[in-house]
Amino acid sequence: MSDRSFDLSRDVLGVIGGGQLGLMLVMAARRMAVKTVVWTGGLEAPAKDLATHVVDLPFDDPAAIEQFCRIATVATVEFENIPASTLERVAALRPLHPSPRAVSICQNREREKTFLREQGIPCASFAVVSNSEELAAAIANLGPGMLKTADFGYDGSGQIRVRGGEDPADLWQRFGAPKGVYEQWVAFDKEVSVMVARGADGHCVCYPVAENEHREQILDLTMVPARVDDAVAAKAEELAKRIVLAMDYRGIMGVEFFVKPDGEIYVNEMAPRPHNSGHYTMDACVTSQFEQQLRAAIGMPLGSTALLLPVTMLNLLGDLWPGETEAPDWQPLFADRRALLHLYGKAKASLRRKMGHANFLGDSLEDTRQRAVDHKQSWQQTAARARQGR
Ligand code: AMP
Repeated sequence: MSDRSFDLSRDVLGVIGGGQLGLMLVMAARRMAVKTVVWTGGLEAPAKDLATHVVDLPFDDPAAIEQFCRIATVATVEFENIPASTLERVAALRPLHPSPRAVSICQNREREKTFLREQGIPCASFAVVSNSEELAAAIANLGPGMLKTADFGYDGSGQIRVRGGEDPADLWQRFGAPKGVYEQWVAFDKEVSVMVARGADGHCVCYPVAENEHREQILDLTMVPARVDDAVAAKAEELAKRIVLAMDYRGIMGVEFFVKPDGEIYVNEMAPRPHNSGHYTMDACVTSQFEQQLRAAIGMPLGSTALLLPVTMLNLLGDLWPGETEAPDWQPLFADRRALLHLYGKAKASLRRKMGHANFLGDSLEDTRQRAVDHKQSWQQTAARARQGR
């Protein structure tokens, strides 16, 4: 479907997915009085309460596709694990940004890695494996690494670290998926990411490079500006731009990288939507990543990506909750006058579940990081005491 210009008085932005990224997109839309329809997929959907319209049906329901497209004028996605056939049906009826092809590349590791290899973009060496013999050959060839599901992986789910010496048959049985991507281990110094956006006119902008720290394969902290050489930052931006150009991408994308000790960088993965490591933009940049997604989808010029102050973003996982429905004490955070709390309104907390995040702004990155870590430690101690008491 081709685009016509978006009429703010009556047109509606369709959002496929209703999770926290959808919620924050809808909040950006509300602020600018842009109408939205959120398609939840029938899942728990924090975005539901703020959307102008809601389609609360599964993604493979033909009636839902029709209902969604009747309301939406243009559409975008807030998470990538949506059946390809659904995206293609939507794109046949309404302009969809990013395109089904771009989403399909990013939603599957085999396609993602193959795309990177074809584009000559550096990434970890890998092999696609479908049984324990192929896994054994890949380990023999590539050495230690990580076995990852080809489809629908996120935050380290469906991943097994292989150090060497394990029995491949055993690993394959534990893995349990029909197909995997075996990736060589990358001994990296740092992980960084870049949010890149490309607008309706093809103009491309990058946000400042972010430095990420993970705990148990889940993002813990994002710090900006990243403490990397200018040459590394420039290379990350260049690669991010190359990726969106090669896909003829429209929208916002998160690109994660490993920085090796020699300054070389490898792409780890791409997300065809706002990304957890871009949440810092909500308080620390002129234009948030969500407003940028909105602008790209409805054909407004892109906004400035300039950083206003150093920032550390702390993810608030369910691990910090003293009880399933008992939130941490936020008073110390409220007393920190340069910290901003974002909660996603999820009913119940569980371990590893993303419940919200907080952005700590300040004059130096070290100060913002220290405050984030101090708050986290105190919530962690309270939650641990509550768990012990049960
Ligand atoms: P992913 O879900 O693929 O982003 O992986 C989650 C995290 O696991 C990454 O952010 C890294 O910290 C770690 N990781 C994943 N793949 C590799 C690799 N090939 N080498 C080293 N660390 C990795």
